[in-house]
Amino acid sequence: MSAHGSKPLVVIGGGMTGLSTALTWACHQDAHARPVIVLEKQPIVGGFVTSFRRKGFLFDTTQLVPDISWALRRFGIDLEMVRMPGDCIRLFLADPVSDTTRSIGIPADLDGFRTLLTRLHPEELGPIHRFLESSSELFREVKQLKLEPSILDLLWIAATCPHVMQTRNQTFQQYVDSFGMRGSDIREVLGAFALFSALPGERVAAALGSSVLQSMMRGAWRPRGGFIELPLRMRKRLLELGGVLRTGALVDRILTNRGRVTGVRLSDGELIETDHVVTTIDPKVAMGRLVGDDVLRSIDRTYADKVESMRMTMSSMSIHLGLDDRIDLSSLGLGAAYNVLTTGGGTYEWLFRAAERGASDFSEDCFQVSVVCPSLAIGGKPTMTLRVIPMAIGDWAELRARNPQEYQRRKNAVADFFIERVEQYLVPGLRSHIVVRDVATPATFARYSGSPTGSNYDMAPYPDNFGRNRLRMRTPIRGLFQPEFSHGVWPSLLAGMQAVDALLDGKVLGGKAMGDNMEASIRAPRSPTREAPTSLMRVGT
Ligand SMILES: Cc1cc2nc3c(=O)[nH]c(=O)nc-3n(C[C@H](O)[C@H](O)[C@H](O)COP(=O)(O)OP(=O)(O)OC[C@H]3O[C@@H](n4cnc5c(N)ncnc54)[C@H](O)[C@@H]3O)c2cc1C
Repeated sequence: MSAHGSKPLVVIGGGMTGLSTALTWACHQDAHARPVIVLEKQPIVGGFVTSFRRKGFLFDTTQLVPDISWALRRFGIDLEMVRMPGDCIRLFLADPVSDTTRSIGIPADLDGFRTLLTRLHPEELGPIHRFLESSSELFREVKQLKLEPSILDLLWIAATCPHVMQTRNQTFQQYVDSFGMRGSDIREVLGAFALFSALPGERVAAALGSSVLQSMMRGAWRPRGGFIELPLRMRKRLLELGGVLRTGALVDRILTNRGRVTGVRLSDGELIETDHVVTTIDPKVAMGRLVGDDVLRSIDRTYADKVESMRMTMSSMSIHLGLDDRIDLSSLGLGAAYNVLTTGGGTYEWLFRAAERGASDFSEDCFQVSVVCPSLAIGGKPTMTLRVIPMAIGDWAELRARNPQEYQRRKNAVADFFIERVEQYLVPGLRSHIVVRDVATPATFARYSGSPTGSNYDMAPYPDNFGRNRLRMRTPIRGLFQPEFSHGVWPSLLAGMQAVDALLDGKVLGGKAMGDNMEASIRAPRSPTREAPTSLMRVGT
């Protein structure tokens, strides 16, 4: 970004990506001389990363993150993160015929993971070894990639990144299959990582599925005081550095003139002039509605087509349960960071196909639900969160608007179904321990984020929308940036850094997708805080 003057960098959205964008800017610029302003429509920052209280129980929307200490250090933020003890994932394979489960614990370290896979299928020792070596190499190569590669960079990639080249059009499942691993339990175990990629292994780009696996091998973490602590600390730090944060500020238009951005308009009519905007909201809304499809199309038809055809990730349902003190969660084997109760054998892919049609096709014979017990890691009153993934927006939003009573009835019926499954296979008598319950549907997520599909993880990382095939971050409108995939907190923090790196000609990550030294901390000037504190957000209903 060469000429900037005193016009601010405007960031639309105060979630993880928006906060990371603004903080990265303020860490590399004097934010008093070159201001940055975050516009957030909600009364609190954090977006999907938030916490809420019900009758003394603390619940988080988000459930775990890989190690994000590199980002916290870069921002100069001190936040106590608790490493989840035990396995990163525990798979519970339910057999509806015999009414039994068997479990497989997936450890959060590569050596333990290798031991697990070879114990499950000793006859596949060679393929397992080759797969894990390849996956580590792929992760290493991905870190070397340039975000906006030149022709020379592309030639360099072709010559030095064989794993990236080999997997560039593959799904994670095709990648796994290419090693000849056929064992059913191995497929279940590897498929579990796809849950964090927002697509089944049969759909997600190989590089993403593999990167999730590698990053989960560094452990799973939660902030000690609840996930809301993360955005609150980011906000505090941003304000210390001179950044400006406006909550309750809904952007309804991104203004352009002759192919370049000139400002944004808020819903109350206020105009903010700027030459540079980073939008971190649903890209279809930002480009199609805030810029306007006609405007975008008149500038770059191909980009407009890409925005139109690009698919967002699915939504989900969260069932938060506050439990009485009589329950002993620690005795139930649910201490892993993420427990997955599933009927297995392609269940996720089956449910996903139904969700693509806007339907839910779970039954007592085919279901999947993730079970997390945050209080086991961070203490406090016993809590349990059930995550039902995937779930399409379908008619949830319309139903809530048209017939609130029927909406309540249906969401409670779905919640009951999954609570019963957990009771049947994992926690005998669960229902008798429930003191508080709060259910969020795809309509909740759509309303909260402003994404009409209630998408939980931004753009869907199919191979045809990933890597070189993705929607470019530098939009065809000069000065307007749309950070890449925000598949979770870790990638969102990175996406914000990538956006500023593009704005500041490589000053942050050296033009790389991830940057060389994720451990390096950046010293930044201090200045007084300006913004009133906010309370915990209520996100249910
Ligand atoms: C239920 C749930 C559980 C999850 N669990 C995990 C997990 O365990 N681990 C993990 O890593 N990730 C998890 N994720 C995903 C993770 O939370 C997201 O990937 C990440 O928070 C996305 O951050 P973001 O800033 O890109 O988007 P968002 O969080 O959606 O933030 C966008 C912000 O923009 C604001 N906004 C929208 N439109 C406008 C507008 N017109 N004007 C002004 N502001 C606007 C919104 O209010 C919002 O605050 C979960 C997501 C959900 C929904």
